[in-house]
This record gives sequence, structure tokens and C-alpha cells, in this order.
Amino acid sequence: MTRTVYVNGEYLPETEAKVSIFDRAFLMADGVYEVTSVLGGKLIDFDGHLARLERSLTELDMPKPKAFDELLDIHRKLVELNGIDEGMVYLQVTRGAPGDRDFAFPDPETCEATLVLFTQNKPGLAENPVAKTGIKVISIEDIRWGRRDIKTVQLLYPSMGKMMAKKAGCDDAWLVEDGFVTEGTSNNAYIVKDGTIITRNLGTDILHGITRAAVLRFAREAQMKVEERPFTIAEAQGADEAFYTSASAFVMPVVEIDGESIGTGKPGDVATRLREIYLEESRKAGV
Ligand code: PLP
Repeated sequence: MTRTVYVNGEYLPETEAKVSIFDRAFLMADGVYEVTSVLGGKLIDFDGHLARLERSLTELDMPKPKAFDELLDIHRKLVELNGIDEGMVYLQVTRGAPGDRDFAFPDPETCEATLVLFTQNKPGLAENPVAKTGIKVISIEDIRWGRRDIKTVQLLYPSMGKMMAKKAGCDDAWLVEDGFVTEGTSNNAYIVKDGTIITRNLGTDILHGITRAAVLRFAREAQMKVEERPFTIAEAQGADEAFYTSASAFVMPVVEIDGESIGTGKPGDVATRLREIYLEESRKAGV
């Protein structure tokens, strides 16, 4: 089945969807994005993703796309048109295509934002067998720009990090700055020690994960102790458990860091329980 995608107001077969070569995201990585997961045909944490998109646009002085207020309907229509039960909706907004290349931002009065959305069908996303065995990570230096709280499409270094992990026989990389873990290439990082969940505090050095916010809320509601502070790789290697969160992986246990087994070397109870709670509560609240 050909996927139907959305480009600037039109629903089109993916083979007919086009964006200008002068688009600012293509030439300058001048774009922001969101990924919202779909479970049982419903959007998970949609309000959080929309709020973060609005914040990313504001922080970059990027005009809102004309259809901003219709985004929920567009997401829903794409899920329906493409028959998505489990998967994701990818959304990207760029500063538009001014018709030439120039470092200066184009005038938002004459250059409209580009808005693109497409679905990714991932049957079995919630029942991912990897969550039962856990994943292995390596640590690499965090050399990304200083505004990681803005969800931009500058994903070259995170892609390189994933490739470095693959080459090392692992699944992902955790990024380290000044001796402390910031986050994963595309996820927020956590450890658990003596029943306390530890994850880096919010700031400009990490993305404010929408899954992170929900998972910490559920953890506190379940009377789990949470500490928001930086931690080192050595502390993580000596922890009882490690895991990461993201919209597409939910809560994913990490069982090895730089070749050292974490805890028992199997997914821990806290990560496993948080994954269950997150999936259960998110399904209930899906829109
Ligand atoms: N950190 C980074 C660098 C990310 O790219 C992502 C998701 O893409 C996350 C954290 C997790 O954010 P969310 O839970 O909103 O998917």
C-alpha cells in the first residue's frame, strides 16, 4: 500500500510529495520536528508534543505553519488513511523555501513555513521483544550544539553516534559532557540505585523528553523516589539498573554500558514496571 503523506495542506501519495531544493531544512538544517507514537490507533502524549513543537518554534523565531491549529486533525487523518494501529507520526516544520540560499532568515511575511507529516507503521511496537532482554550502549563525547532543548533536525552527530554503537556491537550511545551523561542519541538516560531513579535535570543541554515527563510523573505517583541530577558513566556502571525513554521506545532497559553489565545484566524491576505503567496509562489517555 502506498503511504499517504501530508505536505503543506495536501494529502498525497508519498511518491508525489515534494519539497523545494531551497527549503531551509535541506540547505541549513533550519527545521524542527516531533515524533508521536500511535498505540491502538490513538496518539500518545499528543498535547506534550504539540506544546514542545510550539516552544521549539518560538525559541528559533520560526513562523508557525498556517495549519498549526489543525495538527491534531492532520495526525488523526494520516493514522486513519494509512491504517496505523501501532507506529509513529513524524512531523517537521521548516522556515520554508525562500527561493534562494541565504544565511539570513527569510521574511516570514513572504516565506511560509513548510509543514510535512508522515506515518511509520510499526506493528508490535509495544511488545518489542528487545524490552525483555535490554540493550547495550557505549559512551561517546557529546559534541552537539548548546541548545539541545530545541528539537531541531540537526541529527548528524546522533546518527554518527548510532553508527559508532553499531560498529562496537551495541545498540545506542550515551553522550557525555564534562564527565557527565547528558542523554542518549535519541532518548533520555536514567539509572536506578537503591530504589532511586536518577536522571539528568532539565536545562539547555538535553531535550525535554515528553516520555521523560510522563514517566517521572508515573514514578512519583507510584511513590518511587526520583532525583533529577547529572550522573557519570562510572556511577551508571555501578547502578542496579539503567534504562532510557523516548516516544518510540517508551521505557527501554539498558543492560550493558561500555562492556560492563548493569546490575544482574537483565532488565531491572523498576524499568520493567515503569514500561508497563507507561504503556497502560498512555493507552488509556491516547487521543
Ligand atoms: N533526547 C533526544 C536527543 C531525542 O532525540 C529524543 C527523542 O527523539 C529524546 C530525548 C526523547 O524525547 P521524547 O520522549 O519526547 O521522544
